[in-house]
Amino acid sequence: MDIGIIGCGIGGLSAGALLAQAGHAVTIFDKFVQPEPIGSGLVIQPVGLTVLKAIGAAEYALRKGNKITHMQGQEALSGRNVLDVSYGKRFGLAIHRASLFESLFQAAQAAGVRIITETEVTKTDLIGKQRMVNGTGFDLVIDASGAGSVLSPIQRKSLKYGALWATVNWPKSALPLDQLSQKYFSAKNMIGVLPIGALPNETTAKATIFWSLPQSSFDMWRDQPLENWKAQAKNLWPGMAPFLDQITRHDDMTMAYYDHGTLKNPYAERLVHIGDSAHAASPQLGQGANMALLDAQALAWALADFPLQTALQKYAKSRSLHVRSYQLMSAVFTPMYQSDSRLLPFLRNWFFAPITRIPPAPWLLTKLVCGDFLNPIRRSK
Ligand SMILES: Cc1cc2nc3c(=O)[nH]c(=O)nc-3n(C[C@H](O)[C@H](O)[C@H](O)COP(=O)(O)OP(=O)(O)OC[C@H]3O[C@@H](n4cnc5c(N)ncnc54)[C@H](O)[C@@H]3O)c2cc1C
Repeated sequence: MDIGIIGCGIGGLSAGALLAQAGHAVTIFDKFVQPEPIGSGLVIQPVGLTVLKAIGAAEYALRKGNKITHMQGQEALSGRNVLDVSYGKRFGLAIHRASLFESLFQAAQAAGVRIITETEVTKTDLIGKQRMVNGTGFDLVIDASGAGSVLSPIQRKSLKYGALWATVNWPKSALPLDQLSQKYFSAKNMIGVLPIGALPNETTAKATIFWSLPQSSFDMWRDQPLENWKAQAKNLWPGMAPFLDQITRHDDMTMAYYDHGTLKNPYAERLVHIGDSAHAASPQLGQGANMALLDAQALAWALADFPLQTALQKYAKSRSLHVRSYQLMSAVFTPMYQSDSRLLPFLRNWFFAPITRIPPAPWLLTKLVCGDFLNPIRRSK
């Protein structure tokens, strides 16, 4: 088939690479001029890594990224552990978005995917047996244009809290290099550091740092002297000082806004939605990129197994339970870490944290974070 993909992000590149490898003619459109090493680090969970391996992008990603074995969170004042998830015998791959992009981009190019930049796509009309993208007809169009997709009929709810993010050099620090470390003050403040390995053309080890902030407070944060905020953050977590000292301007931090929403039917005639355009969530569970990778794999399998329109239904069905479950868990857990509630962080500290230490809870948490708490793709033939 002739397949057009809108969005050259994580979902678009993965789907493009897999479908080109299966023999389809794939064109990806993106509005960017060229990808830039902006954005944060993220964690590719074991289920996502399986897809990277299938694409042939894992070797580069593993070389650039950094393996983490734990996710740990402490209440800032007491120093008590309230989140401690081990990957067991597996690991999460913490990686900068630019390095992940490069790994997928190389695989897509090797598979013969055509990439057209500086092209914004705002609609895809169905004309006869073709979906049109800016005047060109395709047998199938994949919307992989992310959380702000204008092609998806998804209903999104804007979340009250977002976060400020930055990438800095990993300094001389006592913080462990093999875990995501976070500190919380109630659910109002959250500060974290993730060791993410190196950027594409560098070897310097980097860290992504983040600071939870209500979306409506961003302007106020910008208007205040940077030193006030840094003093507040260092007060909560003195060990963050060598990371925060590298932030010298407000512009060094990027505000990320989060939405939540799930598309009931992620397909229409000759059109299918994958990744954030089909299901948006806060990154609290660290699953968004993995979900996009899994969607791409599920779609490629469905298109290999069934005729087009049946394949789109099968794709949706194969991902439905996994997507819905993680969306639900994201909606339930996010306010425990990012909200104005006093009750939820209290329950987190005194009810959920103790429970998570009693078997089989640690095992379940490991499965939840790894992404295979439920079968991620229920492939049917
Ligand atoms: C701060 C932050 C931290 C995160 N941390 C994690 C984490 O730890 N683990 C995890 O798994 N996930 C994480 N996520 C989520 C993850 O980044 C997303 O879920 C993932 O990028 C979704 O992939 P996608 O392909 O759907 O969209 P994207 O990767 O966002 O790609 C969309 C692409 O579409 C292009 N585009 C958009 N509109 C148009 C248009 N109209 N025409 C043409 N092109 C268009 C954009 O330029 C972009 O290149 C995080 C997200 C954020 C914001």
